Amino acid sequence: MRYRIGVDIGGTGIKIGLVDENNQIVNRHSLPTGAERPYLSVVEDIVKGIAAVKGDISYKEIISVGVGCPGFVNPETGLLVHAGNLNWENVPLKDALESRMGLPVYVGNDANCAVVGETVAGAAKGKRNVMLITLGTGVGGGLILNGKLFTGSMGMGAELGHAILVMDGEPCTCGIRGCFEAYASVSALIRQTKEMMERCPDSAMHEFSQKNARIDGRTAFDCARMGDEAAKRVVEQYIRYVAAGIGSQINVFRPEAVLIGGGISAEGDHLIKPLNEMVGEYVFAFKQVGAPPILKASLGNDAGIIGAAYLDAVS
Ligand SMILES: [Zn+2]
Repeated sequence: MRYRIGVDIGGTGIKIGLVDENNQIVNRHSLPTGAERPYLSVVEDIVKGIAAVKGDISYKEIISVGVGCPGFVNPETGLLVHAGNLNWENVPLKDALESRMGLPVYVGNDANCAVVGETVAGAAKGKRNVMLITLGTGVGGGLILNGKLFTGSMGMGAELGHAILVMDGEPCTCGIRGCFEAYASVSALIRQTKEMMERCPDSAMHEFSQKNARIDGRTAFDCARMGDEAAKRVVEQYIRYVAAGIGSQINVFRPEAVLIGGGISAEGDHLIKPLNEMVGEYVFAFKQVGAPPILKASLGNDAGIIGAAYLDAVS
């Protein structure tokens, strides 16, 4: 048996997994990210963590190490160019790890790792053209095209969340206006919820959010399930934005399946079913050939580890 190691660097924690050839995580280790520390001390911790998950297995039995992290990652140079919630700029992550371990190291951004993981071992297992959209704090995207991860020039491709959905529309966190993310992220959903609450003082969302002391990405979905009409309109409009954004990208890439991950995917069928029903309105040649299925990503947090581990196989 040979193994791969996947490292998933998140904002608060780093998860390391030893992945076998059956795509199972057979050993795990986690440590705090320590975003405020210099990156080299974090690299030392990752090397120690890799030694810990490896256990008695020799380095010869390990095919490669893959590292996924949030932000701008250049897979060609191995540079972590910019990481939003980590204080790292232009960090030579690949070189630093390779020189300490003598193993080939691959780096990729977190959404790219997620689509690799889902294609290797999750909801899109065995497919060769797969698109993944994460609906979370931001909107991330990952693309497998003809069996390979598409990263574009400098690793900056497949930013599906920043395709323009509405010209000169709502401001996006990236500085552009009208991005898909500005309509489909959790904060966009919260904005849409608040706007509807302002227009509908009788909506059950008012009492519900006061009881919970917050308005969040679940408020509208929860109240819609309770039968509140204003909440149903928020959910329907939100899903329509997501359908239009995904439909447009289906027209460019025509994947075999579209996977939905991120926090909002926890709504399950309440999101996925209407999304599949609506997306055809935005898909080219829908009447003739239909639309690819939109599925919930299935690996959860393990997608990051398994996807990072398999970066070597799709690069
Ligand atoms: Zn944007």
